[in-house]
Amino acid sequence: MSKPRTYKTEAVIIKKTKLGEADSILTLYTPNLGKIQGFARSLRKPKSKMAGHLELLTHSQLSLARGRNLDTIIGAQTINSFLPLKTDLDLTSYALYTTELVNQFAADNVEDQPVFSLLIETLQGLTQGGDNDLLLRYFELHLLDMVGYRPQLERCVTCKSALKDTTNLFSPAAGGMLCPGCHRNQLTYPLSEKARKVLLLLQHSGYGEVSGLEIERELSRRLEMVMRNYLRYLLEREVKSTAWLDSLRGQIDDNQIRPYSPTTPAKT
Ligand SMILES: [Zn+2]
Repeated sequence: MSKPRTYKTEAVIIKKTKLGEADSILTLYTPNLGKIQGFARSLRKPKSKMAGHLELLTHSQLSLARGRNLDTIIGAQTINSFLPLKTDLDLTSYALYTTELVNQFAADNVEDQPVFSLLIETLQGLTQGGDNDLLLRYFELHLLDMVGYRPQLERCVTCKSALKDTTNLFSPAAGGMLCPGCHRNQLTYPLSEKARKVLLLLQHSGYGEVSGLEIERELSRRLEMVMRNYLRYLLEREVKSTAWLDSLRGQIDDNQIRPYSPTTPAKT
């Protein structure tokens, strides 16, 4: 039996690419089809009826017609426009960071409902005015879990012993924590016991359970840098939207959070 020529799906518009004069190719994250591409004809013409339903970061119900190479979007209806994410630059930068990570880690056409749910939960969370840095750390840890890169935060990756209440080290290459005894020449980032406990809590909890957590700015920045370096290692490149995040809030002092390795003397 041949597949029907048209189909419907929910999707979040995670990327837009211009094509020719007025057309666009949209990257869509869907609950049942994973990441797909959709051709949107004349989307950039002023009279386009679908444009408002196909904005970046919008959650919409779509109809698509199958094509030989690319399916064409033939209908769109907004489910949630996440309007605050489009009118507040800070929120836009946070939201685009989440869609960039989903785009980077998701393979084409591989269903992953938990990732779709996590994306919706995170976009929704960003509109609710909590600690958005904490929300991003929650998003990163859960996304990494879902795509097979869950960092080991409970035990030393090398000797498997439970970590003691001391400053242990996070190794991107090892995919988790090392105890001080197992730390050789790897590039690592020191994590205080408190920092590690926060990451563990985020990793093991639903967002509702941790959204009220209050974290000092310095600790929040350290968690961000550790996660950023782990993501950079996994993706083998910088996450592009982090540059925008940084410029909007006036630069992180990267020097304060320099990695520690025995070959480079630690800052005194
Ligand atoms: Zn060890």
